[in-house]
Amino acid sequence: MRELEKIYIFDTTLRDGSQTQGVNFTLDEKIRISESLNKLGVDYIEAGWPGANPTDTNFFNKKYNLNSSLVAFGMTKKSGRSADNDPGLSAILNSNTKSVCIVGKTWDFHVDVALGITKEENLENISETTKHFVKNKREFMFDAEHFFDGYKNNKDYALQCIRAAYDEGATWIILCDTNGGTLPFEVEKIVSDVVKIIPGNKLGIHTHNDTENAVANTLSAINAGARQIQGTLNGLGERCGNANLVSIIPTLLLKDFFKKKFKLKIKENNLNYLTECSRLLDEILNRKPNNHAAYVGSSAFSHKGGLHVSAVEKNPKTYEHINPEIVGNRRSVVVSDQSGKSNILSRLDSLKIKIDKNDPRISKLLDQVKDREFIGYSYDGADASFELLTRRLLNQVPDYLKIKKYEVRVHKNLDDIDINSEAKIHLNIDGKDIVCEGTGNGPVHAIDSAIRKNISKIGKYGDYLKDLKLLDYKVRILNTGTNATTRVLIESSDNSGSIWYTIGVSPNIIEASFRALLDSIDYKLFKEKAPANI
Ligand SMILES: [Zn+2]
Repeated sequence: MRELEKIYIFDTTLRDGSQTQGVNFTLDEKIRISESLNKLGVDYIEAGWPGANPTDTNFFNKKYNLNSSLVAFGMTKKSGRSADNDPGLSAILNSNTKSVCIVGKTWDFHVDVALGITKEENLENISETTKHFVKNKREFMFDAEHFFDGYKNNKDYALQCIRAAYDEGATWIILCDTNGGTLPFEVEKIVSDVVKIIPGNKLGIHTHNDTENAVANTLSAINAGARQIQGTLNGLGERCGNANLVSIIPTLLLKDFFKKKFKLKIKENNLNYLTECSRLLDEILNRKPNNHAAYVGSSAFSHKGGLHVSAVEKNPKTYEHINPEIVGNRRSVVVSDQSGKSNILSRLDSLKIKIDKNDPRISKLLDQVKDREFIGYSYDGADASFELLTRRLLNQVPDYLKIKKYEVRVHKNLDDIDINSEAKIHLNIDGKDIVCEGTGNGPVHAIDSAIRKNISKIGKYGDYLKDLKLLDYKVRILNTGTNATTRVLIESSDNSGSIWYTIGVSPNIIEASFRALLDSIDYKLFKEKAPANI
């Protein structure tokens, strides 16, 4: 059997990804992300630019116990001074990483316009910088910025630039599509040309997603011979993002075309950490995960409609390209009023609820779903509320917070710009009456903070609810006129990274929100196996 060639995965979430508008990782967050990437098993973690800001400098000052190699980033030396006297290069050397990645210009237009130096000076900056790091025993990688645009504009010069680094001992030359405008067939052709000069096992690819082709361009480059991939988690990156490693990694490991030729440091069984790794980044960024993300999105393996569901029941291959568990995701069966018994059974199965398929309670559940959908509920996107409904019917969910009554007051002084809301919730826990009060900029916020700000008051349930987070809140008015019904959908999460959706419906928006919120709390308590209220 032919030996499989290795593809190296180089993550740049903490460097190029952090260029994104609104992203500013703290030192702790950088450490958490590095640990997560290390657990996934990437080869290289580009962690930042030592000397550029205190966070990056501090990051490199610490010691880590990682299997992945940390990479320090910087740019080629400045014109008019030697590499030894360039403070930027010194900061990188002082960070003491085994590997360094240095970006330099390869597009003559940029050399003229952005740097304002001669083409020869730029070549010298590249070769001198390479020599400097090779002499200091670093694994040297050269990020050839704007390589594809440079190649199209002045092929000879772009190639001279990468030769300047390669001839001085660079381990990797990474071809960058910095503006993200190159298309997959162009990437394939250009990389095939470059491979004639520099061997593929020395070539990397770094793409941006400005034509939604960053992943496709990466795969094309591999097909043409490149053997290192640079990208970020969830495609994080400025403008339209970088190549998404969360999509590329499972494609390389699971799709026969690549699987038969290549191996990665990441083993197939590490993939079951992929979904968690992707969601951790969203959690750190306080962003709502993309439900439709390939492989890891919560809708990536969800099925709706009787026909699809009964086919998936017979064999998941009918509507799934891979088994969701391989990437740590799960199948979800969307329940709607079009659904019959097969949807319900399949949904119960995915929730791991064991019940005989002829159990009369299944028809009862189906009736309840239909009745509730008639008044405006939709369990399509409310998996946790569906699970609670089912388990309550099966007597598996104890009573937790006993809410006896709640009051909400909204008030505004006309000469005041703020509208204030206050909520008061009367609870009974283990026979004790408790009153929780909260304020907020809106009534729902006030109800939420009445519970959240009084965690210590709510006795044995407080600890379970500490890390509960509301990610998103959506309101929909179902019919027009004075009899309008409001449907509220809440998306929640906690420190484990799991995400659940709950729903509430009522003619009153506060009551609809309250029900959705209470389901979210009940679901969290159920998930944590909290004890019953006595
Ligand atoms: Zn980039």
